[in-house]
Amino acid sequence: MRILLVEDDPQLGDGLMVGLRQAGFAVDWVKDGNTADHVLATEVFDLLVLDLGLPRLSGMDLLHRLRARGQSLPALILTARDATIDKIAALDAGADDYLVKPVDLDELAARVRALARRAAGRAQPVLRHGALALDPASRRVTMADSRVELSAREYSVLHTLLENAGRVMTRTQIESSIYGWRDEPDSNALEVHIHHLRKKLGADFIKTLRGVGYTVPKL
Ligand code: CA
Repeated sequence: MRILLVEDDPQLGDGLMVGLRQAGFAVDWVKDGNTADHVLATEVFDLLVLDLGLPRLSGMDLLHRLRARGQSLPALILTARDATIDKIAALDAGADDYLVKPVDLDELAARVRALARRAAGRAQPVLRHGALALDPASRRVTMADSRVELSAREYSVLHTLLENAGRVMTRTQIESSIYGWRDEPDSNALEVHIHHLRKKLGADFIKTLRGVGYTVPKL
């Protein structure tokens, strides 16, 4: 799951970037509203964490543009503005959640998971597929109640495929949900992760559609 972080304070942005990455998200960070607007118009993100006081284009203006373009990704406002009137204005402009700085990173990660869950049309926090269960909060994966040990990348690939079970995901779609700009994938890295996942979960768990992509078939 890939997040765009828009924050102009370098120290805070750095801390948020590190914290969100540690929580298992792919995070890209931009420092002004115009760059964010451009990036959102050209690349796919699963969620936006947005400061309001930004250079070049304010967080509110960015939010208006985003929703006017019909982009529906969840937007979480993270700001020092704690006045009720600001919260109401942001939520009514299309924000989905509102957090006042200073923020607790664990709470931020939990709110991000909740927004992502709702955006995927789920209420149940644990993703299940047959005997497999994936818990995004603990990042634990079990098969018939036994723990399956996955690398961070294997976990991200599996999470993306499960969140889209029954749909064919292209290589590009999977890669853009698990890698930020800073982590350039090797050309065969995805195939290697899929190979390892099949060894751990069973050869048939992930199907390859040659020339198209991968899918976890609906049960
Ligand atoms: Ca700011």
